[in-house]
Amino acid sequence: MESQSNNYLVSQKERIYFVVRLFFSLVIYLGLGFSLFNDVSSEIIPLNQVIATIIGLIILIFITYIIRNGAFIGLIKSFSVKITERQLPEIYQMTEKISNGLKIKKMPSVYLLQEGGLLNAFAKKYFNANYIVIYSDLLEAYYEGDKDAVEFVIAHEMGHIKRNHLWKDLLLAPSLFIPFLPMAYYRACELTCDNIGKYSNAKGAVNGLLVLASGKVLYRYLNVSEYLKQEYEDASFWRWLVEKTLTHPNLYKRLNNVFDGNIEASRKYVAPVKNSSKQTVPSSIKLSGMVETEKSEPAAESDHSRYWPE
Ligand SMILES: [Zn+2]
Repeated sequence: MESQSNNYLVSQKERIYFVVRLFFSLVIYLGLGFSLFNDVSSEIIPLNQVIATIIGLIILIFITYIIRNGAFIGLIKSFSVKITERQLPEIYQMTEKISNGLKIKKMPSVYLLQEGGLLNAFAKKYFNANYIVIYSDLLEAYYEGDKDAVEFVIAHEMGHIKRNHLWKDLLLAPSLFIPFLPMAYYRACELTCDNIGKYSNAKGAVNGLLVLASGKVLYRYLNVSEYLKQEYEDASFWRWLVEKTLTHPNLYKRLNNVFDGNIEASRKYVAPVKNSSKQTVPSSIKLSGMVETEKSEPAAESDHSRYWPE
């Protein structure tokens, strides 16, 4: 169900839902335009008033965008540690490597945010600048011996930038009113970004998702194949319904995507030893669909992307 693009897999669902959302958005754009000019032809509203309304709306949307997103970036800069060549340089170099590997024109700024134990990361765009924010508890995994997991997480966020998810979402804004459709699109985007993360670091894809699922300590003790089976053996109507309202797929579903549904491969998973650079997935295991960075051709320049949150 996926197609190859620049050495990583783009979720087929992302492409399909994008087209469906685009269709509904265009219908709404056209309907809006038609109704305005229809009113013009019936001379209910004078032409100059229509034009003034449209210009006013555009200015209002633009000002809202500037203030809302500008304030958010201000908050990030106020409460985060900026990662640079001299501040946590290992993370900076890792980010630079991923950015170059994905042929992103301008490397995003990376910030470390302390959020009291929350495990998360997100990407943010403001005009032409891109930001990646990583919560400190997640980044600690790097210094506790699991570089791969952190590389996966950063590459996943970089994927939102690469795939231009934020600009696309702005374009598709009118379709936000269609029930369930935007969420289905967002979930598909997450699978694509997991694939991009896997493209950067296949080993880290498993560890990174496990860390998100169970925390940076307990993930070393999980039975991965049992966790994957949760997708099939613990299914219920309510779980199905709730997922339709979420922006992210369940983590076991994301892990199944990483393993290409191959539960047998997951049985061979070995958790990393704390404070060790030991490989987490034995090199004898070839997880189908995974592409090791060092074996990959550089991504093509055809896809100039940006991003969108989480
Ligand atoms: Zn994401």
